[in-house]
Amino acid sequence: MHTIQNYINGQFENPSNNEWLDNYCPANGEIYGQIPNSSKDDVERAYQAAELAFPSWSKTTLDERSRILIKISELLEANIQQFAEAESKDNGKPVSLAKAIDIPRAASNFRFFGNAITQFASESHESVGQDAINYTLRQPIGIVGCISPWNLPLYLFTWKIAPAIAAGNCVVAKPSEITPITAFLLGNICNEAGLPKGVLNIVHGLGKITGQAIVEHPYIKAISFTGGTKTGAHIAKIAAPMFKKLSLELGGKNPNIIFADCDYKGMLETTVRASFSNQGQICLCGSRIFVEASIYKKFKTDFIAKVNQLKVGHPSSEATQLGALVSKQHLEKVLNYIDIAKKENGNILCGGNQVIIKDYEGGYYLEPTVIEISTNDCKINQEEVFGPVVTIMPFNTENEVLHMANAVRYGLSATLWTSNLKRTMRLTNQLQAGIIWVNTWMLRDLRTPFGGIKASGVGREGGFEALRFFTEAKNVCIKY
Ligand code: NAD
Repeated sequence: MHTIQNYINGQFENPSNNEWLDNYCPANGEIYGQIPNSSKDDVERAYQAAELAFPSWSKTTLDERSRILIKISELLEANIQQFAEAESKDNGKPVSLAKAIDIPRAASNFRFFGNAITQFASESHESVGQDAINYTLRQPIGIVGCISPWNLPLYLFTWKIAPAIAAGNCVVAKPSEITPITAFLLGNICNEAGLPKGVLNIVHGLGKITGQAIVEHPYIKAISFTGGTKTGAHIAKIAAPMFKKLSLELGGKNPNIIFADCDYKGMLETTVRASFSNQGQICLCGSRIFVEASIYKKFKTDFIAKVNQLKVGHPSSEATQLGALVSKQHLEKVLNYIDIAKKENGNILCGGNQVIIKDYEGGYYLEPTVIEISTNDCKINQEEVFGPVVTIMPFNTENEVLHMANAVRYGLSATLWTSNLKRTMRLTNQLQAGIIWVNTWMLRDLRTPFGGIKASGVGREGGFEALRFFTEAKNVCIKY
């Protein structure tokens, strides 16, 4: 059993109310630790520490900030095994996945923004004929709040924290209460890297108490949130009348559109990955697969054959491709969606059942599930399931599939498989999504803007977009 503590002012401390929450291991369903059930008072303490640190941190040279961020990145890399195992135990994802994706990406986030801040420049405008020059100051906002979800715990936590502190802000952050462990471990790394105390403060606890206290805090001036659309709407309601800067990265229900003229082999392999990586618990997974009618039958046979080969197992086994879902509650939610699909006359082509793993009978395992549907507007094709469940359906024309792809409330990402350039240009212009992949999936370049439209969010993170979000632009006009 471990005990997680809050990280405030560079030190680890218990919650002031001494209340605790259970931390579950999804691989066996057992409680394996305790996490603070922090109150408003702890958020206030974190805020006070951040406020104290801000005057000095905001004036720290870019070289020095960059050096510390890169040091954090190196320390994460040096401790990759410990972090990957901890992430896997907390989240249920295969250790191999945490080691290949989650932890390296968390390290990249710090390295990337450590470098990006040294290249971040603001503009000046000479007002010709008016003997004046304008320049833009890009100043840190002050104290900012970062709130992240459980699916890519350290990866998304650091995606917010790294640009926030690189830009000179001090941070009050809350990871998901379901997956708190790697955020807890990050505190030691920050101390070792020489991050001044109070620059980053991590408070653990429930969304509706700890998270909400961050959002409601009168002097936390910006909130960067990644999580569910419903939570995002709730946060926006609180933050809007307080005029806080808001970045909301929310849910998705992403189309994966497959034309007959695509590179079939590459498409098939990537589509399996895009459907089931991280047990389908990635906001960018292509959960709605639309296949051109002429190759639909072949695709269906080949796809199901590949999905049936996927190995569901304990996260620490090297052979495992799908680990456990994150929680009992989430497993029940996903199973409920499979039931809804059956009632809607969805045809379960494979999967659909819970998996019991010997010696880990209490774990939250589920078969990768493919459901054939006949209408775009059924619930299973419209609502975010966020598990190892995809739908497949044929289409006949480009216009028909474009309409179906866009006829959903979300607009996070879309994937397109075709070798026709004109079609690529037509569709990428018209697909309603913040991120479009053509003939690939999840190929990330951290310089690119990242975020969704419609119910998938507001604002963009990534590259200079994140540094713009975490700074205020101030125009100075000098008459000479
Ligand atoms: P969630 O909305 O339940 O929780 C996300 C975070 O918000 C957690 O830390 C939670 O404690 C906190 N929270 C909950 N209620 C709050 C409140 N009232 N005030 C402040 N904070 C609060 O989401 P989740 O279940 O952890 O994550 C899954 C969701 O995240 C999915 O919908 C998924 O699509 C989305 N997601 C989006 C992206 C993206 O980049 N767009 C990336 C990953 C996950």
